[in-house]
Amino acid sequence: MAKKIYIDAGHGGVQPGAVNGKRKESDDTLRLALKLQALLKDQDCEVRLSRSKDVDIKINDRCRDANNWRADYFLSIHRNAASASATGNEIWIYSKANEYTEAKARNILNAVCKVDGLKNRGVKRGAPSYTDYGVNRDTNMHSALIELGFISNSSDNKVYDAKLDAIALALAKVLLSVVGSEWKEPIIMGDVNGDGKVTAADARETLRTAAQLETLSEKEKVAADMNGDGKVTAADAREILKESAGVK
Ligand SMILES: [Zn+2]
Repeated sequence: MAKKIYIDAGHGGVQPGAVNGKRKESDDTLRLALKLQALLKDQDCEVRLSRSKDVDIKINDRCRDANNWRADYFLSIHRNAASASATGNEIWIYSKANEYTEAKARNILNAVCKVDGLKNRGVKRGAPSYTDYGVNRDTNMHSALIELGFISNSSDNKVYDAKLDAIALALAKVLLSVVGSEWKEPIIMGDVNGDGKVTAADARETLRTAAQLETLSEKEKVAADMNGDGKVTAADAREILKESAGVK
């Protein structure tokens, strides 16, 4: 059964979280959550967001939602705030989290630091008296709360904006791995040779397959079958040629 990944975009609505000028933590967390949802949509997992718009949801409602859905992993996305020079990523786990929860959190943090290049501030264990975050305390599954750079630091914000796609991709991949699944490169329709672009070369390969001069792999056949009729034909090659020429 597909594993369930719950993505919690921190704050929202009347609770913007940390603010720096016009920039709100709640917007930053939502942008990333939506990208993660899009990336994970076609992967071998189920994904659910605590919110997909700018609304205020109570912490216990987020936890209840994830518990009722029976998520396998819960990641809460946040951005940090302190002095203007504080920098880096860190991740928080429940005070009573076991070694598996800790290892998963470490993998997630390391994966992000690798792509955004910010300082790795480590895995932090909450304390029952004051730093146990509700999302870690009141969820039943492995969970963590990640702080992605400091919104109070303009250079961390530049990194966040410039690297957001890379951060989302790294998170999507590592989240799949923490639930025991793995990232599969999505198929781009028309990109038969898998070079990331739809070109006349793809049309030629499709035409050669249609004429039974060439055999494509199963994955390549899916990418070549533009009209979705289950066969690779000259009609598909024509579609690919049109797309490669920007005619569509
Ligand atoms: Zn926050």
